[in-house]
Amino acid sequence: MSAMDLQLNPGLEGKNALVTGGSRGIGRAIVERLAASGMDVTLTYVSNDEAANAVIDANQGLKITAVKVDVRDSEASRQCVEVMAERVGTIDVLVNNAGIIRDNLLPMLEDEDLEAVFETNIEGVFNFCRAVVPYMMSKRSGRIINISSVSGEKGGRGQTNYAASKGAINAFTKSLAVELGRRKILVNAVAPGVIETELSEAVRDIAGEEITSQIVLKRYGLPSEIANAVWFLSSDLASYITGQVLSVDGGFKM
Ligand code: NDP
Repeated sequence: MSAMDLQLNPGLEGKNALVTGGSRGIGRAIVERLAASGMDVTLTYVSNDEAANAVIDANQGLKITAVKVDVRDSEASRQCVEVMAERVGTIDVLVNNAGIIRDNLLPMLEDEDLEAVFETNIEGVFNFCRAVVPYMMSKRSGRIINISSVSGEKGGRGQTNYAASKGAINAFTKSLAVELGRRKILVNAVAPGVIETELSEAVRDIAGEEITSQIVLKRYGLPSEIANAVWFLSSDLASYITGQVLSVDGGFKM
């Protein structure tokens, strides 16, 4: 492929992507970015039908399919992947984006706050990777991009459960990259800083000044700025990158 070809077509057109938690926030931006590049994109969500339908309605003409499936449910996740593979043939890109927060100081954390966060943020990643990887292995190609967080590497008050789940994603990403490298499957993570979505609303309301003063670029990020990084890691432009955690945080972690 010539340099000009790569610039015009970074290898995504006609390929298929699966984005968990793709109905709102960062996931929605990723879905729209990949679909606008000519990919057939399946998004998952867990409860908000209205938000999922809104993504489809706002993007008539792009190939987007919404499936309601809880990433915590391994059997349902496997079935979702099977149905997608039957429909589109194969899965080229998996973006594990679905995630939640249940912030609180450690003594106040209930069992449910631990279970919900670990089951969604890390077990969900296991569930979808286990379901998708066999398809990628048989094709000897694929990209897996896990959405981590700056919290996986930078301490944050009230975030022990969330930080632990995101640190686990970083470690998982590196091991899976080693495991799948021989099969030409590239595995990376993107670690967003504070991004303007519903998930971060409470944190931004409570500690806005304190946070933005620590961000080198002095502002929050936009979902589209995370989507751009995922798009790059999905494309042929990132063919020699694996096992990395790419910070997209305006310099917050430094
Ligand atoms: P939002 O709350 O805006 O959106 C979350 C999405 O995940 C929704 O589509 C939601 O579906 C879906 N979801 C939640 N739980 C499940 C589940 N059990 N099964 C399937 N889908 C589920 O979150 P963000 O866009 O802000 O966050 C996306 C990712 O980015 C998360 O992994 C988060 O940890 C990470 N991140 C976010 C940051 C931020 O500042 N916003 C910073 C760093 C990382 P439904 O609409 O049905 O609820």
